[in-house]
Amino acid sequence: MSRARAAGSRSGAAGAARSPLMEQYARVKAEHPDAFLFFRLGDFYEMFFDDAVAGAALLGLTLTSRNKQDPDPIPMCGVPWHQRDAYIARLLRLGRKVAVCDQVEDASQARGLVERAVTEILTPGSVTGEAFLETSANNFLAALWPGEDHLGVCLADASTGEIKLAEVDWIEAPGWLARRAISEWLIPLGLEAAPAARLEGALRGLAGAVSPVPAARFAAGDAALALPERLGPDAAATLADLPQAARALTAALDYLDRMAGGRARQLTRLERWLDEHTLRYDAATARHLELFQPQPGGESTHTLWRHLNLCATAPGGRRLRGWLERPLADLAPLARRHDQVGAWLEAGTTRAVLREALAGLPDLERLTARLACAKATPRDLGALRGTLARLPAIAAPLAFLAPELTVGALEHLTSFEELETLLGRALVDDPPAIARDGGIMRPGYDAVRDQLDDLAHSGKRWIADLEAGERVRSGIGSLKVGFNRVFGYYLEVTRPHLDKVPTDYERRQTLTTAERFVTPGLKAKESEVLGAEEKLKAREHDLFVELRDRAAVFVPALQRAADAIAELDAHAALAEAAARFGWTRPVMTESDRLTLEGARHPVVERLLARGEFVPNDCRLDGAARQILLLTGPNMGGKSTYLRQVALIVLLAQAGSFVPAARAEIGWVDRLFTRVGAVDRLGAGQSTFMVEMSETADILRSASPRSLVLLDEVGRGTATYDGLALAWAVTEQLHAADGPRPRTVFATHYHELTQLAEHLPRLVNVHVAARESGGTVVFLHRIAEGAADRSYGIHVARLAGLPERVLARAAEVLHELENERTVEHLEPARGKTRIRPPATPQMPLFSPGAHPVVQALRALDLETLTPLEALNRIAAWKRECGEE
Ligand code: ATP
Repeated sequence: MSRARAAGSRSGAAGAARSPLMEQYARVKAEHPDAFLFFRLGDFYEMFFDDAVAGAALLGLTLTSRNKQDPDPIPMCGVPWHQRDAYIARLLRLGRKVAVCDQVEDASQARGLVERAVTEILTPGSVTGEAFLETSANNFLAALWPGEDHLGVCLADASTGEIKLAEVDWIEAPGWLARRAISEWLIPLGLEAAPAARLEGALRGLAGAVSPVPAARFAAGDAALALPERLGPDAAATLADLPQAARALTAALDYLDRMAGGRARQLTRLERWLDEHTLRYDAATARHLELFQPQPGGESTHTLWRHLNLCATAPGGRRLRGWLERPLADLAPLARRHDQVGAWLEAGTTRAVLREALAGLPDLERLTARLACAKATPRDLGALRGTLARLPAIAAPLAFLAPELTVGALEHLTSFEELETLLGRALVDDPPAIARDGGIMRPGYDAVRDQLDDLAHSGKRWIADLEAGERVRSGIGSLKVGFNRVFGYYLEVTRPHLDKVPTDYERRQTLTTAERFVTPGLKAKESEVLGAEEKLKAREHDLFVELRDRAAVFVPALQRAADAIAELDAHAALAEAAARFGWTRPVMTESDRLTLEGARHPVVERLLARGEFVPNDCRLDGAARQILLLTGPNMGGKSTYLRQVALIVLLAQAGSFVPAARAEIGWVDRLFTRVGAVDRLGAGQSTFMVEMSETADILRSASPRSLVLLDEVGRGTATYDGLALAWAVTEQLHAADGPRPRTVFATHYHELTQLAEHLPRLVNVHVAARESGGTVVFLHRIAEGAADRSYGIHVARLAGLPERVLARAAEVLHELENERTVEHLEPARGKTRIRPPATPQMPLFSPGAHPVVQALRALDLETLTPLEALNRIAAWKRECGEE
């Protein structure tokens, strides 16, 4: 976790006598030690001292120095003012903060040093500007308050106005936090040792900037006072039984207000996040299933999100992502989602009309949030006007759907005529991105503005006409009128004509080829024009602010409209996916059955040529088929099968239709996967350690309602240890007093198939393959019964292993299969003798007889720490005669 920390200690506050400018810098920087200070100098934002050193390295800028001759030069780097957002966005993505210090008086009017002040503070979790945000994901600040039994959490997205509250059990907290994408953590400073340690433990290893604030800012009383006024009359009741979350909320609102430089009024959309109504899965499962991110080194086209997100708008995309991140575990609301998707699926033409109307629509949710917190630009209001003009076209197709499905949306999408008319009357066709420089308001909207505009224009016309008049008066045909920032308007005469210059011209500037003059009349006109222009800009700015305030009255209605658009778009996108990919509505039940017929992997199917993917069935239930033990050759399709079962359940509970001819799903409370590659090695854990801690989590937390998908558990260690562990884990999953989740366990340990003789609810299945002409043909079909062989050597041949090696492997395999021991194997010429096991072959296959198995059985995984687990395993290895 990177702290949003001071960019450096050499802030310039101390040191030898500095210029007045550097003293000004030091004063401002001292107020923002934890942020990169972007200090406006002319056309650049400059960074100095350690900010410059770190900024140059992070942003790839050239590091220079301000006073090169000085024995102690000041490091400096800068970015052009008009490109600042792109650089700031990069720093924010790296978890850093930025304070922007602008010139707050007109440089031409300033006496001495131009006054400067911080006008904006940007942090990863508080930004609202489009340039800093990812379109189809929330940008959450997470405020955390450590209570005695629970962690109070408030997730606030300033860019959309959403607030999510939760109180999480301490045991669950690390996993809960790890599976959210958080841009910035807000944590209390100055806690007592115990709560501070609990909080630190929950946050260990997580990404995102950390912003510590005094614990006093988490005072619950403040929230109670401000809440009804701020969040509506129901808020206090919502928070009454969430005291820890209420504290986190107080701190989040306080922080976001401070970052916004005023009330962050958009933050009103309060929601409780209760885990018991959602299908839970952890961050590892999201990675294993490549929901949003590919596996390390994988391709982005392999993610589910890439294929599922057919939304036409950004709010729709975020809504759909939220559904996938927190699928429902409540049948009634799930049925409503499926109903909506079904209705949109049937209404193909209407859906096409709606999606056409939504395509390219500006992000109304984020526009509205910026409007609420007075951050909307003239361009934002222009985009808002454009969006409102398109609402009737979005509402029109809703008339063709059953009224009970659309009544809310219809009501929220109409009724903006007043605002639309106001914005239409006030704003020019294409308003600018900044409010400072005028060019915002339409002529006819305000009489004072129009007069100033006339004045500025007529003055400019007078100056333009002057050129023609002076050419005649002086007889200099090449005389030109020009303007620059230092001298203002001037008359330019080239050298050969200087003798003809009239006597009332006053010389201002000498160039190599010409001289520049002014006249008293020109100067008078200039101050009239410039004065009018300044006044015009100021008037436009005032008018704009007033317009923005008037528009802000509509914020609640606009939020409802944005919400309606997000819902419509997300449902229609799921219907679109169902139509394009041939998905069907899952039947959701309270039973413990999971029956899939003709099921496909939603992504692999799309990546293969049409018709190449082999659909498969899956039958699981709590009574006779609780555990499917899946064997078969490498490359046979085991992992694909596991993932497709998991993805179908996730899709179904997110509200989507699913890639199966028929799906009946007894709802799932938690989904666990232990599949394939591991990417936590960077966190100092071995492959095996990660695998075991994920397995321990499953044994601890799964319930009969859960779905567990295990791939190759035990592979990361010595064969016998791995087999022993896999064996014991399977028994525990099945045990009467065990978690008894519905499970599919893919394994290469063929010995495990014998478990079917002892465990009544375990059923063997295999992926079918055929040997043909010395090579293996994968059928990718899941069939009942155990695989008869593993085809490993065939797969190795496909992978290009030399024939010599393959022949030797076949020889060893043959001996192993015959004897199950390698004791008498004669070494082939030039090859090392294979060392026989020091202990006799384990009688593993009559379960319980081997001392290691007995020890495993006796283990209490509830209390076993990862370290103890490793020590035990090391001891067992010694017992088995291995080093
Ligand atoms: P290993 O044991 O080596 O990890 P595996 O049995 O898990 O292999 P997968 O990785 O699932 O095999 O699949 C291997 C390849 O087979 C996939 O890349 C995919 O292209 C193809 N495949 C898997 N399932 C199917 C299917 N049902 N229909 C068609 N092709 C499939």
